[in-house]
Order: sequence, then structure tokens, then C-alpha cells
Amino acid sequence: MNIFKSVKLMRKYATCKECGSDNIGNGEGTLIIEDKIFRRSCKCGWNIEVDEDDNALLNLKVAAWASMGKRKIYELHDKDKKFFGYVSVNELQKMGYVKRIDHRKKAEEFFNTPEGLAWVKKNRFFNVL
Ligand SMILES: [Zn+2]
Repeated sequence: MNIFKSVKLMRKYATCKECGSDNIGNGEGTLIIEDKIFRRSCKCGWNIEVDEDDNALLNLKVAAWASMGKRKIYELHDKDKKFFGYVSVNELQKMGYVKRIDHRKKAEEFFNTPEGLAWVKKNRFFNVL
């Protein structure tokens, strides 16, 4: 992640927004900066996950999957367990993110990257019929 952007996020999220703790490590809290994702959590249960521009990631999960003939779909839910739309597993297979329909962990990893989220928003649909 860009150093200036990560420093900005570290300042913004240095203290827990719930309990005000600024401790990291020793089970008190975590701060993880990856290439595309900034994560900070606190022992009180508060946590955030944002991209380098401070956009919240949605923790999309595959809630269910179905095959209808050759067509395969995932039903996605966000972190509040709200319905977020359906996506085509066939497309994910073409792009190489998923080999078999039950490889949903791989798919979830993709959905929770900034590129994956952008892909979902562009390609999701709300009606399977
Ligand atoms: Zn806290």
C-alpha cells in the first residue's frame, strides 16, 4: 500500500472508535496493512477493513449456491447478512477465481478485494429467472 495512504489510515484508526484503546499487539488489538487492504481491530470487538482510499469493504460472503443446468450462481450477503445480489460462478470460473462451485472461500477472498467488489457491483443481478 502507498506509504502516505497507509500513514493517513494509521492516524485515523489509531484509536478504537468504540472504547478508545490505542493498544496493538498482545491480544489488545491488531493492525494489518496488506497490498490493498487496511485492517484494524480491537479487543472490544470493534474492527474495520478499508481499501487504501478508506472505502469500507463489505465482507461479502457466499450465503448459498445453486446450479441450474449449466448456469451456476452464488447468492451474496454483506457483513450485516443483507442480500447483496447474485453473481455468475461461470464467469468466476472463466476468470480463474473458482474451479468448483464449492470453492467459495476462494471466491470470497476475491469479493473482498477492491477489484472483486468493483466486479461484483458491476456484474451482480437480483433476479435469477
Ligand atoms: Zn475497542
